[in-house]
Amino acid sequence: MESCGYNAVRVARLPEKLIAVRSGLAKYGANNITYIPEFGSFFLLSAFYSDLPCTGTDETWSDIRVMDMCKNCHACISKCPTAAITGDRFLIKAERCLTYYNEFKGTPEFPDWIAPDSHNCLVGCLRCQLQCPLNREQLEKVEVLAEMDEAETSLILENRGFEELPPALAAKLEELNISMYYHHLSSNLKALINPKYRLP
Ligand code: SF4
Ligand code: SF4
Repeated sequence: MESCGYNAVRVARLPEKLIAVRSGLAKYGANNITYIPEFGSFFLLSAFYSDLPCTGTDETWSDIRVMDMCKNCHACISKCPTAAITGDRFLIKAERCLTYYNEFKGTPEFPDWIAPDSHNCLVGCLRCQLQCPLNREQLEKVEVLAEMDEAETSLILENRGFEELPPALAAKLEELNISMYYHHLSSNLKALINPKYRLP
């Protein structure tokens, strides 16, 4: 941006999905996740303030839009392990979504009504995105970015302080963009390797 003569500053704590939908960049799915045609739902939104002149916004700023495809597809509704997506209203039941319990700092332990086989990710939940037909093409491009060996897995399970982790393990967590969720990794991993857990 600077090379073009404009300034941009990244900002946190803005409703990025909502802004992406209102500005025409993305559309909502029935699972309240946003989709962009070239990427499905596999992208990371970031918001910036800029002095770049905005032109043509009258044509793109719009009401909240849900993808047409969702009218005749209920794949995410039927595969959500916690019945967080109801289908009879736009908003999912956020208090039932696994991500509420395994991503955000200070949220309660997994309640008993979450079945052991609901857990499917070290952080978050991918069931609704993996079932979505609009992600099929993207799923063929998934790559393994890092692997933890047994010793590293044990360190996470022991819930050592992040600063106590060997630099190589800390670097892997950074590379995977999950170091910010380290406070939850130990309990999430325990839920994943629960003997009752079965891969989907
Ligand atoms: S992220 Fe998981 S729990 Fe949340 S709505 Fe999607 S499938 Fe359901
Ligand atoms: S799985 Fe179907 S209903 Fe759910 S977001 Fe994707 S297209 Fe929409």
